[in-house]
Amino acid sequence: ILKINGIHKKFITEKGNEIDALSGIDMTIHENELICILGPSGCGKSTLLRIIAGLEKPSSGEVYYKDKEIKKCHKEIGMVFQQYTLLPWRNIIENVALGLEINGIDKKQRIEKAKEYLSLVGLDKFEASFPYELSGGMQQRVAIARVLANDSNILLMDEPFGALDAHTRVLLQRELLGIWRKNKKTVLFVTHSVDESIYLADKIVVMSKSPGKVKKIINVDMERPRERSNVEF
Ligand code: ATP
Ligand code: MG
Repeated sequence: ILKINGIHKKFITEKGNEIDALSGIDMTIHENELICILGPSGCGKSTLLRIIAGLEKPSSGEVYYKDKEIKKCHKEIGMVFQQYTLLPWRNIIENVALGLEINGIDKKQRIEKAKEYLSLVGLDKFEASFPYELSGGMQQRVAIARVLANDSNILLMDEPFGALDAHTRVLLQRELLGIWRKNKKTVLFVTHSVDESIYLADKIVVMSKSPGKVKKIINVDMERPRERSNVEF
């Protein structure tokens, strides 16, 4: 469903130095895969996701969505960022409904759907609150509700559960798996947690920061039961 061909990304720092954030990424992502991306800080995970989302231009290389250039397909893609990105002047329910609004869903329907997903992340009591009234983890849950409500075909998630307490993290991991199984979504999930990627992933992509700044991608196909029996809340 996604074809990533020879992506390079250079950044120029204020001092004029070049940084090779990505040097030659090739990946094929099939429909309905749940791929976890692991790698040390600074290896280019967020940059890769931003390029796939069309938010950043690669220095060279292309990303295709079903053989079309990704730039024309942003409706198909939803992203949860590493840092919370709620609109401060909108209340919580309006933040969740944002993507639906952009996609032209009528007001009654989008509020209904937003409520459904807000209760999924356990925040139905906060629909009239504003982002500054919520903790960081709660804001992240709102951002997750927003992307799930939007029903995009492809979900790009950049360490979405990193800031959450352990209880909420386990609940949302389960929820994500449920949604992914039910709705045939393709998910790219960046995480620092090996445990999280082993629980969630179909395939684990490991990005490395080698001295020559050449990234390696190791695909590990994992066919195993995911049930996590020893965690109880
Ligand atoms: P983390 O795990 O800490 O989130 P990451 O793997 O997501 O790290 P990126 O944020 O993609 O890493 O950054 C990759 C490299 O590109 C880093 O060296 C970073 O300093 C550099 N970089 C990222 N964005 C920019 C930018 N806008 N301008 C200059 N350099 C950047
Ligand atoms: Mg990052």
